[in-house]
Amino acid sequence: SLWRPTAILLASDLPLIPPTRLRAMTLPTFVDLNLDPFWMPFTANRQFKQSPRLLVSAAGMYYRSIDGREILDGTAGLWCVNAGHCRPEIISAIAQQAATLDFAPTFQMGHPGPFQVADRLRRITPDPLNHVFFANSGSEAVDTALKIALAYHRLRGEGTRQRLIGRERGYHGVGFGGISVGGIAPNRKFFGSLLAGVDHLPHTHNLEHNAFSKGQPTWGAHLADELERLVALHDASTIAAVIVEPLAGSTGVLIPPQGYLERLRAICDRYGILLIFDEVITGFGRLGAPFASQYFGVTPDLITVAKGLTNAAVPMGAVIVRDEIYETFMQGPAGQIEFFHGYTYSGHPLACAAALATLEIYEKEALFERAASLAPYWQEAIHSLRGLPHVIDIRNLGLVAGIELAPREGQGGPRGYDALCRAFEAGLLIRVTGDIIALSPPLIVERSHIDQMVDILSRVLQELP
Ligand code: PLP
Repeated sequence: SLWRPTAILLASDLPLIPPTRLRAMTLPTFVDLNLDPFWMPFTANRQFKQSPRLLVSAAGMYYRSIDGREILDGTAGLWCVNAGHCRPEIISAIAQQAATLDFAPTFQMGHPGPFQVADRLRRITPDPLNHVFFANSGSEAVDTALKIALAYHRLRGEGTRQRLIGRERGYHGVGFGGISVGGIAPNRKFFGSLLAGVDHLPHTHNLEHNAFSKGQPTWGAHLADELERLVALHDASTIAAVIVEPLAGSTGVLIPPQGYLERLRAICDRYGILLIFDEVITGFGRLGAPFASQYFGVTPDLITVAKGLTNAAVPMGAVIVRDEIYETFMQGPAGQIEFFHGYTYSGHPLACAAALATLEIYEKEALFERAASLAPYWQEAIHSLRGLPHVIDIRNLGLVAGIELAPREGQGGPRGYDALCRAFEAGLLIRVTGDIIALSPPLIVERSHIDQMVDILSRVLQELP
Protein backbone atom coordinates (compact mmCIF):
# COMPACT_ATOMS: atom_id res chain seq x y z
CA SER A 1 0.00 0.00 0.00
CA LEU A 2 2.67 2.48 -1.00
CA TRP A 3 1.24 5.87 -1.75
CA ARG A 4 2.79 8.67 -3.71
CA PRO A 5 1.48 12.21 -3.91
CA THR A 6 -0.14 12.67 -7.28
CA ALA A 7 1.28 16.11 -7.89
CA ILE A 8 4.83 17.00 -6.99
CA LEU A 9 5.26 20.73 -7.28
CA LEU A 10 8.44 22.53 -8.01
CA ALA A 11 9.30 25.75 -6.18
CA SER A 12 8.34 27.75 -9.25
CA ASP A 13 4.83 26.28 -9.15
CA LEU A 14 4.13 27.55 -5.66
CA PRO A 15 1.71 30.41 -5.22
CA LEU A 16 3.34 33.73 -4.43
CA ILE A 17 3.65 34.22 -0.70
CA PRO A 18 5.65 36.74 1.29
CA PRO A 19 9.34 35.78 1.48
CA THR A 20 9.33 35.56 5.29
CA ARG A 21 6.71 32.83 5.14
CA LEU A 22 8.32 31.08 2.23
CA ARG A 23 11.58 30.77 4.13
CA ALA A 24 9.87 29.09 7.06
CA MET A 25 7.92 26.72 4.83
CA THR A 26 10.50 24.42 3.39
CA LEU A 27 9.43 22.39 0.42
CA PRO A 28 8.54 18.85 1.33
CA THR A 29 10.99 16.17 0.34
CA PHE A 30 8.86 13.37 -0.93
CA VAL A 31 9.32 9.85 0.26
CA ASP A 32 7.31 6.77 -0.46
CA LEU A 33 4.85 6.42 2.36
CA ASN A 34 3.44 3.16 3.57
CA LEU A 35 0.12 4.31 4.99
CA ASP A 36 -0.89 0.96 6.41
CA PRO A 37 0.97 0.54 9.74
CA PHE A 38 -0.10 3.78 11.40
CA TRP A 39 -3.45 3.22 13.10
CA MET A 40 -4.86 6.73 13.03
CA PRO A 41 -6.74 8.10 16.06
CA PHE A 42 -10.36 9.28 15.79
CA THR A 43 -10.20 8.70 12.02
CA ALA A 44 -11.97 6.48 9.50
CA ASN A 45 -8.66 4.86 8.58
CA ARG A 46 -9.73 3.13 5.37
CA GLN A 47 -11.51 6.18 4.03
CA PHE A 48 -8.60 8.50 4.88
CA LYS A 49 -5.97 6.21 3.40
CA GLN A 50 -7.84 6.17 0.10
CA SER A 51 -7.34 9.92 -0.26
CA PRO A 52 -4.99 11.16 2.45
CA ARG A 53 -4.62 14.77 3.45
CA LEU A 54 -1.03 15.27 4.55
CA LEU A 55 0.54 18.38 6.02
CA VAL A 56 4.29 18.79 5.74
CA SER A 57 5.20 22.19 7.09
CA ALA A 58 3.70 25.18 8.83
CA ALA A 59 4.38 28.82 9.63
CA GLY A 60 2.21 31.42 11.31
CA MET A 61 -1.40 31.01 10.15
CA TYR A 62 -0.67 28.48 7.41
CA TYR A 63 0.09 24.86 6.83
CA ARG A 64 1.52 23.54 3.62
CA SER A 65 0.07 20.34 2.23
CA ILE A 66 2.21 17.62 0.70
CA ASP A 67 1.13 18.70 -2.78
CA GLY A 68 2.49 22.17 -2.08
CA ARG A 69 -0.70 24.08 -1.31
CA GLU A 70 -1.10 26.71 1.42
CA ILE A 71 -3.80 25.72 3.91
CA LEU A 72 -5.14 28.44 6.19
CA ASP A 73 -5.36 27.06 9.71
CA GLY A 74 -8.91 27.66 10.88
CA THR A 75 -8.56 25.44 13.95
CA ALA A 76 -5.16 26.25 15.48
CA GLY A 77 -4.17 22.69 14.61
CA LEU A 78 -6.50 20.93 17.02
CA TRP A 79 -7.44 23.92 19.19
CA CYS A 80 -3.87 24.18 20.39
CA VAL A 81 -1.47 26.31 18.32
CA ASN A 82 -2.67 29.57 19.85
CA ALA A 83 0.45 31.60 19.02
CA GLY A 84 0.67 30.40 15.42
CA HIS A 85 2.94 27.80 13.89
CA CYS A 86 6.67 27.27 14.18
CA ARG A 87 7.43 30.23 16.40
CA PRO A 88 11.23 30.69 16.36
CA GLU A 89 11.32 31.54 20.10
CA ILE A 90 9.70 28.21 20.98
CA ILE A 91 11.79 26.23 18.52
CA SER A 92 15.06 27.58 19.89
CA ALA A 93 13.96 27.12 23.53
CA ILE A 94 13.22 23.45 22.83
CA ALA A 95 16.45 22.94 20.92
CA GLN A 96 18.54 24.57 23.63
CA GLN A 97 16.85 22.57 26.35
CA ALA A 98 17.32 19.30 24.46
CA ALA A 99 21.03 20.02 24.15
CA THR A 100 21.38 20.99 27.83
CA LEU A 101 19.15 18.68 29.85
CA ASP A 102 17.19 16.21 27.77
CA PHE A 103 15.44 14.55 30.66
CA ALA A 104 15.41 14.60 34.43
CA PRO A 105 13.05 12.75 36.74
CA THR A 106 10.60 14.67 38.88
CA PHE A 107 9.95 11.78 41.26
CA GLN A 108 12.04 12.61 44.35
CA MET A 109 14.31 14.68 42.14
CA GLY A 110 13.85 17.88 40.24
CA HIS A 111 15.04 20.38 37.69
CA PRO A 112 14.15 24.07 37.40
CA GLY A 113 11.68 23.76 34.50
CA PRO A 114 8.41 22.71 36.18
CA PHE A 115 8.99 25.06 39.13
CA GLN A 116 9.42 27.93 36.68
CA VAL A 117 6.39 26.99 34.58
CA ALA A 118 4.17 26.58 37.66
CA ASP A 119 5.29 29.93 39.02
CA ARG A 120 4.72 31.60 35.66
CA LEU A 121 1.29 29.96 35.25
CA ARG A 122 0.27 31.20 38.67
CA ARG A 123 0.52 34.76 37.37
CA ILE A 124 -2.35 34.22 34.95
CA THR A 125 -4.57 31.71 36.77
CA PRO A 126 -7.54 32.94 38.78
CA ASP A 127 -6.83 33.37 42.48
CA PRO A 128 -6.61 31.27 44.63
CA LEU A 129 -5.61 28.55 42.14
CA ASN A 130 -1.86 28.65 42.60
CA HIS A 131 -0.59 25.07 42.59
CA VAL A 132 0.16 23.01 39.52
CA PHE A 133 0.48 19.26 38.91
CA PHE A 134 1.94 18.34 35.52
CA ALA A 135 0.82 15.66 33.06
CA ASN A 136 1.43 15.14 29.35
CA SER A 137 -1.97 15.62 27.79
CA GLY A 138 -5.47 16.81 28.43
CA SER A 139 -6.62 13.24 29.08
CA GLU A 140 -3.98 12.74 31.73
CA ALA A 141 -4.79 16.12 33.26
CA VAL A 142 -8.46 15.12 33.54
CA ASP A 143 -7.76 11.76 35.14
CA THR A 144 -5.33 13.47 37.51
CA ALA A 145 -7.94 16.07 38.48
CA LEU A 146 -10.54 13.39 39.20
CA LYS A 147 -8.05 11.50 41.38
CA ILE A 148 -7.13 14.70 43.25
CA ALA A 149 -10.82 15.32 43.92
CA LEU A 150 -11.39 11.82 45.30
CA ALA A 151 -8.25 11.85 47.45
CA TYR A 152 -8.99 15.37 48.73
CA HIS A 153 -12.33 14.34 50.22
CA ARG A 154 -10.82 11.21 51.72
CA LEU A 155 -8.04 13.24 53.34
CA ARG A 156 -10.67 15.49 54.89
CA GLY A 157 -12.52 12.53 56.37
CA GLU A 158 -15.26 12.59 53.72
CA GLY A 159 -14.34 9.37 51.95
CA THR A 160 -17.99 8.69 51.10
CA ARG A 161 -17.75 11.40 48.45
CA GLN A 162 -16.94 9.17 45.51
CA ARG A 163 -19.47 10.06 42.84
CA LEU A 164 -18.30 12.05 39.84
CA ILE A 165 -20.64 14.10 37.70
CA GLY A 166 -19.99 15.05 34.10
CA ARG A 167 -22.29 16.28 31.38
CA GLU A 168 -23.96 14.86 28.30
CA ARG A 169 -21.88 15.61 25.20
CA GLY A 170 -18.92 16.56 27.40
CA TYR A 171 -15.44 15.67 26.15
CA HIS A 172 -12.72 15.08 28.70
CA GLY A 173 -10.20 13.08 26.74
CA VAL A 174 -9.89 9.35 26.45
CA GLY A 175 -8.57 8.03 29.76
CA PHE A 176 -10.96 5.78 31.65
CA GLY A 177 -11.83 8.64 34.00
CA GLY A 178 -12.31 11.05 31.12
CA ILE A 179 -14.58 8.79 29.09
CA SER A 180 -16.58 7.91 32.20
CA VAL A 181 -17.42 11.52 32.98
CA GLY A 182 -17.53 12.36 29.28
CA GLY A 183 -20.85 12.25 27.51
CA ILE A 184 -20.10 11.49 23.86
CA ALA A 185 -21.71 8.12 23.23
CA PRO A 186 -19.33 6.56 20.65
CA ASN A 187 -16.36 7.39 22.90
CA ARG A 188 -17.89 5.35 25.73
CA LYS A 189 -20.09 2.59 24.50
CA PHE A 190 -17.46 0.21 23.14
CA PHE A 191 -15.58 0.07 26.43
CA GLY A 192 -17.69 -1.70 28.99
CA SER A 193 -19.09 -0.36 32.22
CA LEU A 194 -16.40 2.29 32.87
CA LEU A 195 -16.18 3.98 36.28
CA ALA A 196 -18.99 3.24 38.69
CA GLY A 197 -20.92 6.06 40.33
CA VAL A 198 -20.89 8.55 37.49
CA ASP A 199 -23.84 10.73 36.49
CA HIS A 200 -24.32 13.26 33.74
CA LEU A 201 -25.98 16.64 33.75
CA PRO A 202 -27.94 17.53 30.62
CA HIS A 203 -26.07 19.38 27.88
CA THR A 204 -27.03 22.97 27.16
CA HIS A 205 -27.64 22.79 23.41
CA ASN A 206 -31.10 23.90 22.32
CA LEU A 207 -31.83 25.07 18.79
CA GLU A 208 -35.44 25.85 19.55
CA HIS A 209 -34.50 28.58 22.04
CA ASN A 210 -30.95 29.53 21.19
CA ALA A 211 -30.30 29.17 17.44
CA PHE A 212 -28.06 31.88 15.97
CA SER A 213 -27.23 33.37 19.37
CA LYS A 214 -24.36 35.78 19.34
CA GLY A 215 -22.19 35.21 22.39
CA GLN A 216 -23.83 33.52 25.38
CA PRO A 217 -27.40 32.39 24.73
CA THR A 218 -30.04 33.70 27.08
CA TRP A 219 -31.98 30.47 27.60
CA GLY A 220 -30.83 27.56 29.71
CA ALA A 221 -29.34 28.66 33.06
CA HIS A 222 -31.91 26.46 34.81
CA LEU A 223 -30.29 23.35 33.30
CA ALA A 224 -27.70 23.64 36.08
CA ASP A 225 -30.45 22.85 38.57
CA GLU A 226 -30.26 19.22 37.46
CA LEU A 227 -27.37 19.06 39.90
CA GLU A 228 -29.87 19.69 42.69
CA ARG A 229 -31.81 16.68 41.47
CA LEU A 230 -28.69 14.50 41.60
CA VAL A 231 -27.94 15.75 45.10
CA ALA A 232 -31.46 14.86 46.16
CA LEU A 233 -31.14 11.45 44.51
CA HIS A 234 -27.75 10.42 45.90
CA ASP A 235 -27.17 12.77 48.84
CA ALA A 236 -24.43 15.39 48.75
CA SER A 237 -22.28 13.29 51.08
CA THR A 238 -21.66 10.87 48.18
CA ILE A 239 -20.69 13.43 45.51
CA ALA A 240 -17.03 14.35 45.03
CA ALA A 241 -16.93 16.60 42.00
CA VAL A 242 -18.62 18.04 38.95
CA ILE A 243 -16.54 18.42 35.79
CA VAL A 244 -17.56 20.52 32.81
CA GLU A 245 -15.95 22.30 29.92
CA PRO A 246 -16.96 25.94 30.53
CA LEU A 247 -17.49 26.09 26.77
CA ALA A 248 -17.85 22.62 25.29
CA GLY A 249 -15.58 22.46 22.25
CA SER A 250 -15.14 18.99 20.84
CA THR A 251 -18.82 18.13 20.81
CA GLY A 252 -19.42 21.06 18.46
CA VAL A 253 -19.00 24.36 20.30
CA LEU A 254 -21.76 24.64 22.90
CA ILE A 255 -21.70 28.06 24.55
CA PRO A 256 -22.86 28.15 28.18
CA PRO A 257 -26.13 30.02 28.64
CA GLN A 258 -25.97 33.24 30.63
CA GLY A 259 -25.99 32.45 34.34
CA TYR A 260 -25.48 28.70 33.91
CA LEU A 261 -21.92 28.41 35.21
CA GLU A 262 -22.69 30.78 38.09
CA ARG A 263 -25.58 28.54 39.08
CA LEU A 264 -23.45 25.41 38.90
CA ARG A 265 -20.87 27.11 41.13
CA ALA A 266 -23.51 28.12 43.67
CA ILE A 267 -24.94 24.60 43.92
CA CYS A 268 -21.46 23.07 44.29
CA ASP A 269 -20.73 25.56 47.09
CA ARG A 270 -23.98 24.75 48.83
CA TYR A 271 -23.14 21.05 49.04
CA GLY A 272 -19.34 20.98 49.34
CA ILE A 273 -18.90 19.56 45.83
CA LEU A 274 -15.69 20.39 43.97
CA LEU A 275 -16.12 22.12 40.63
CA ILE A 276 -13.61 21.24 37.90
CA PHE A 277 -13.37 23.34 34.76
CA ASP A 278 -11.79 21.42 31.91
CA GLU A 279 -10.06 24.26 30.11
CA VAL A 280 -8.00 22.18 27.73
CA ILE A 281 -9.56 24.17 24.87
CA THR A 282 -10.62 27.40 26.58
CA GLY A 283 -7.33 27.93 28.43
CA PHE A 284 -4.72 30.36 27.11
CA GLY A 285 -6.79 33.06 25.55
CA ARG A 286 -9.33 31.32 23.38
CA LEU A 287 -12.14 33.45 24.82
CA GLY A 288 -10.11 36.62 25.20
CA ALA A 289 -9.03 36.08 28.81
CA PRO A 290 -6.28 33.78 30.12
CA PHE A 291 -8.91 31.22 31.17
CA ALA A 292 -12.65 30.87 30.66
CA SER A 293 -12.94 31.11 34.45
CA GLN A 294 -11.91 34.76 34.28
CA TYR A 295 -13.97 35.42 31.18
CA PHE A 296 -17.13 34.16 32.87
CA GLY A 297 -16.18 35.40 36.34
CA VAL A 298 -16.70 31.94 37.84
CA THR A 299 -13.83 30.40 39.79
CA PRO A 300 -13.69 26.61 39.90
CA ASP A 301 -11.70 24.54 42.41
CA LEU A 302 -9.54 22.81 39.82
CA ILE A 303 -8.67 23.67 36.22
CA THR A 304 -7.30 21.21 33.68
CA VAL A 305 -5.18 22.52 30.81
CA ALA A 306 -3.03 21.18 27.95
CA LYS A 307 -2.90 22.19 24.25
CA GLY A 308 -2.12 25.94 24.32
CA LEU A 309 0.15 25.54 27.35
CA THR A 310 3.09 24.76 25.04
CA ASN A 311 1.52 26.08 21.84
CA ALA A 312 1.32 22.33 21.11
CA ALA A 313 5.02 22.17 20.24
CA VAL A 314 5.65 19.53 22.93
CA PRO A 315 2.89 17.57 24.68
CA MET A 316 2.05 18.85 28.15
CA GLY A 317 -0.99 18.93 30.40
CA ALA A 318 -1.55 20.25 33.89
CA VAL A 319 -4.03 20.51 36.75
CA ILE A 320 -4.15 23.80 38.61
CA VAL A 321 -5.75 23.63 42.05
CA ARG A 322 -6.96 25.93 44.77
CA ASP A 323 -4.45 26.56 47.55
CA GLU A 324 -6.78 24.91 50.03
CA ILE A 325 -6.70 21.64 48.06
CA TYR A 326 -2.92 21.66 47.90
CA GLU A 327 -2.69 22.50 51.61
CA THR A 328 -5.01 19.61 52.47
CA PHE A 329 -2.56 17.21 50.83
CA MET A 330 0.34 18.81 52.74
CA GLN A 331 -1.05 18.01 56.20
CA GLY A 332 0.51 14.60 56.90
CA PRO A 333 4.02 13.82 58.16
CA ALA A 334 6.61 15.75 56.12
CA GLY A 335 8.48 12.64 55.00
CA GLN A 336 5.36 11.05 53.50
CA ILE A 337 4.49 11.14 49.79
CA GLU A 338 1.32 13.21 49.67
CA PHE A 339 -0.16 12.00 46.36
CA PHE A 340 0.64 8.63 44.88
CA HIS A 341 0.36 9.74 41.32
CA GLY A 342 2.62 11.03 38.56
CA TYR A 343 3.98 10.36 35.08
CA THR A 344 7.55 9.67 34.03
CA TYR A 345 7.28 12.79 31.91
CA SER A 346 5.51 15.06 34.44
CA GLY A 347 7.33 18.35 33.98
CA HIS A 348 9.47 17.10 31.10
CA PRO A 349 12.32 19.55 30.39
CA LEU A 350 11.40 20.00 26.71
CA ALA A 351 7.73 20.64 27.53
CA CYS A 352 8.75 23.12 30.22
CA ALA A 353 11.04 24.96 27.81
CA ALA A 354 8.22 25.13 25.27
CA ALA A 355 5.72 26.28 27.91
CA LEU A 356 7.98 29.07 29.20
CA ALA A 357 8.64 30.35 25.69
CA THR A 358 4.93 30.12 24.86
CA LEU A 359 3.76 31.95 27.98
CA GLU A 360 6.32 34.64 27.23
CA ILE A 361 4.89 35.10 23.73
CA TYR A 362 1.32 35.26 25.02
CA GLU A 363 2.30 38.03 27.40
CA LYS A 364 4.67 39.97 25.15
CA GLU A 365 2.27 39.99 22.22
CA ALA A 366 -0.82 40.41 24.43
CA LEU A 367 -2.49 37.61 22.47
CA PHE A 368 -5.35 37.11 24.94
CA GLU A 369 -6.25 40.78 24.65
CA ARG A 370 -5.88 40.48 20.90
CA ALA A 371 -8.44 37.65 20.89
CA ALA A 372 -10.82 39.84 22.90
CA SER A 373 -10.44 42.78 20.56
CA LEU A 374 -10.97 40.65 17.43
CA ALA A 375 -14.00 38.82 18.86
CA PRO A 376 -16.63 41.33 17.63
CA TYR A 377 -15.24 41.23 14.07
CA TRP A 378 -15.11 37.44 14.25
CA GLN A 379 -18.71 37.31 15.44
CA GLU A 380 -20.06 39.41 12.60
CA ALA A 381 -17.95 37.61 9.99
CA ILE A 382 -19.07 34.16 11.10
CA HIS A 383 -22.71 35.14 11.39
CA SER A 384 -22.60 36.47 7.83
CA LEU A 385 -22.82 32.80 6.79
CA ARG A 386 -26.39 32.68 8.09
CA GLY A 387 -28.83 31.94 5.30
CA LEU A 388 -26.44 29.75 3.30
CA PRO A 389 -27.68 26.27 2.38
CA HIS A 390 -27.88 23.70 5.21
CA VAL A 391 -26.91 26.17 7.97
CA ILE A 392 -29.26 25.66 10.92
CA ASP A 393 -27.22 27.38 13.64
CA ILE A 394 -24.18 29.58 14.10
CA ARG A 395 -22.73 30.22 17.55
CA ASN A 396 -19.63 32.03 18.73
CA LEU A 397 -17.66 33.33 21.69
CA GLY A 398 -14.16 34.79 21.83
CA LEU A 399 -12.31 33.33 18.86
CA VAL A 400 -14.41 30.17 18.62
CA ALA A 401 -17.36 29.42 16.41
CA GLY A 402 -19.62 26.51 15.59
CA ILE A 403 -21.64 26.21 12.41
CA GLU A 404 -24.26 23.51 12.54
CA LEU A 405 -25.52 21.97 9.32
CA ALA A 406 -28.77 20.14 8.80
CA PRO A 407 -28.24 16.38 8.86
CA ARG A 408 -28.57 14.56 5.54
CA GLU A 409 -31.64 12.49 5.04
CA GLY A 410 -30.91 8.87 4.17
CA GLN A 411 -27.51 7.81 2.75
CA GLY A 412 -24.43 9.89 2.19
CA GLY A 413 -22.83 10.26 5.63
CA PRO A 414 -22.47 13.46 7.60
CA ARG A 415 -22.35 16.75 5.70
CA GLY A 416 -19.62 17.85 8.08
CA TYR A 417 -17.02 15.47 6.71
CA ASP A 418 -17.86 16.50 3.18
CA ALA A 419 -17.42 20.11 4.20
CA LEU A 420 -14.03 19.32 5.75
CA CYS A 421 -12.79 17.64 2.56
CA ARG A 422 -14.01 20.47 0.35
CA ALA A 423 -12.63 23.18 2.64
CA PHE A 424 -9.25 21.44 2.62
CA GLU A 425 -9.30 21.31 -1.17
CA ALA A 426 -10.10 25.01 -1.15
CA GLY A 427 -7.23 25.78 1.24
CA LEU A 428 -8.81 25.88 4.71
CA LEU A 429 -8.41 23.55 7.68
CA ILE A 430 -11.59 23.18 9.71
CA ARG A 431 -12.67 20.69 12.35
CA VAL A 432 -15.95 18.82 12.22
CA THR A 433 -17.98 16.77 14.66
CA GLY A 434 -20.82 15.09 12.81
CA ASP A 435 -22.57 17.97 11.08
CA ILE A 436 -21.02 20.73 13.15
CA ILE A 437 -18.09 22.74 11.84
CA ALA A 438 -15.82 24.12 14.56
CA LEU A 439 -13.49 27.06 14.01
CA SER A 440 -10.82 28.27 16.42
CA PRO A 441 -7.99 30.04 14.59
CA PRO A 442 -4.63 30.85 16.16
CA LEU A 443 -4.90 34.05 18.18
CA ILE A 444 -2.49 35.79 15.80
CA VAL A 445 -5.22 35.71 13.15
CA GLU A 446 -5.69 38.92 11.13
CA ARG A 447 -8.98 40.28 9.83
CA SER A 448 -7.88 39.35 6.32
CA HIS A 449 -7.55 35.70 7.41
CA ILE A 450 -11.02 35.80 8.92
CA ASP A 451 -12.34 37.16 5.62
CA GLN A 452 -10.52 34.39 3.75
CA MET A 453 -12.04 31.75 6.03
CA VAL A 454 -15.54 33.08 5.60
CA ASP A 455 -15.07 33.36 1.86
CA ILE A 456 -13.92 29.75 1.50
CA LEU A 457 -16.65 28.47 3.83
CA SER A 458 -19.27 30.39 1.96
CA ARG A 459 -18.22 28.78 -1.33
CA VAL A 460 -18.02 25.34 0.28
CA LEU A 461 -21.49 25.63 1.78
CA GLN A 462 -23.03 26.82 -1.46
CA GLU A 463 -21.63 23.82 -3.31
CA LEU A 464 -22.23 21.21 -0.61
CA PRO A 465 -24.81 18.60 -1.61
N1 PLP B 1 -10.47 17.90 27.65
C1 PLP B 1 -10.95 18.69 26.69
C2 PLP B 1 -11.94 19.74 27.04
C3 PLP B 1 -10.50 18.56 25.38
O1 PLP B 1 -11.02 19.34 24.42
C4 PLP B 1 -9.54 17.58 25.10
C5 PLP B 1 -9.05 17.41 23.72
O2 PLP B 1 -9.56 17.95 22.78
C6 PLP B 1 -9.07 16.77 26.13
C7 PLP B 1 -9.55 16.96 27.40
C8 PLP B 1 -8.08 15.70 25.87
O3 PLP B 1 -6.83 16.22 25.61
P1 PLP B 1 -5.71 15.28 24.93
O4 PLP B 1 -6.19 14.96 23.56
O5 PLP B 1 -4.48 16.13 25.00
O6 PLP B 1 -5.59 14.06 25.79
